[in-house]
Amino acid sequence: MYSDRIKSLPPYPFAAIDRAKIAAQKRGVDVINLGVGDPDLPTPQIIIDSLCRAAADPRNHQYPSYEGKIEFRTAVAEWYKETFKVDLDPESEVLALIGSKEGIAHAPLAFLNPGNLALVPDPAYPVYKTAVEFAGGVPVILPLKRENGFLPDLDSIPSDVARKARLIFLNYPNNPTGACADLKFFKRLVDFAADNNLIVLHDNPYSEVYFGDERPPSILEVEGAREVAVEFHSLSKTCNMTGWRVGFVVGDREIVAGIGNVKSNIDSGNFGAVQDAGIVALKNAQKIAADMRKTYQERVELLYAGLKKIGLEVEKPEATFYLWAWTGGRSKDYTRKLIDQLGIVATPGVGFGDYGEGYVRFSVTQPTDRIAEAVERMERMVAEEKSL
Ligand SMILES: *Cc1c(COP(=O)(O)O)cnc(C)c1O
Repeated sequence: MYSDRIKSLPPYPFAAIDRAKIAAQKRGVDVINLGVGDPDLPTPQIIIDSLCRAAADPRNHQYPSYEGKIEFRTAVAEWYKETFKVDLDPESEVLALIGSKEGIAHAPLAFLNPGNLALVPDPAYPVYKTAVEFAGGVPVILPLKRENGFLPDLDSIPSDVARKARLIFLNYPNNPTGACADLKFFKRLVDFAADNNLIVLHDNPYSEVYFGDERPPSILEVEGAREVAVEFHSLSKTCNMTGWRVGFVVGDREIVAGIGNVKSNIDSGNFGAVQDAGIVALKNAQKIAADMRKTYQERVELLYAGLKKIGLEVEKPEATFYLWAWTGGRSKDYTRKLIDQLGIVATPGVGFGDYGEGYVRFSVTQPTDRIAEAVERMERMVAEEKSL
């Protein structure tokens, strides 16, 4: 019944963990879920109120515009200017998305012909590779290694592969590793892309989830980036709005237009009321994100200290709400043990690609008392193992 593209999908990597979680819950275990990349904090009330008002506006009851309301795109450009000091033309350099995943998944359809190569990082958000394959492209894996700060080693890409490839996916601040890229790396990448005629698709949903004094940069801050790159953004993580499905892509106008062309043949844009609420979110994003950072930072410190104590090799993330811990063994064995013995859900690194093997990802999307409880359970297990 199914197409080859569906049949060739890898098995859902987290199915076994999901089953073990449900089994634990059935046994009456108080499960602590540090597995999901979904903020537990609610959407701020001003955003909810604005949606309620906007939902009553009859102008929002008809088909929305494909590319997003000009008011929404203008609010994006203003947020971008305020945040990254980059000027964008809301008409041609901003496109609304039904969540950034939607744009990421559709983008390769605009740029790949069957058999074209696309550079895809590993470990990574699984959508990049699947999207390339759905478009008939051939993913070329760029390993992200700890010794390189989880950045791809551009020098190791054979020059004929670089020249043949049509596009490259990247994501900093990085899910799952928590690593950031600096402007120097982005500059090298933009030069590399220009030399090889590559389209850069940079996924940046964690731009506001950082813990240092300075915000991680946008790739569009680099000179020349706006001729080769676009950046995907989302209100999901910035304003705790994963359920609302509102994101956007900005940058090179031809790339933006390509994605828009695919979309206009598939969907009919975001609900206008969600865009109106998105405008309110963007106008308040600095304040909302500052509060959110404080919450995550406290949780990260707590879990980091706990993981260190039980002897895992882990670094404090510079950004994102993930801790990427090296366990040494098979990641699925480790996460299986966590759920079966302790009732803790974490994500096996191998679910993000072969280069994630040996790692486990913990999300701090639970309140501090739950994280403290998880740490206690892990300490108890380690103490018992030592006393055997
Ligand atoms: C959460 C996440 C997204 C998806 O964001 P939406 O806007 O909710 O679709 C995209 N990329 C990465 C790496 C993410 O972690």
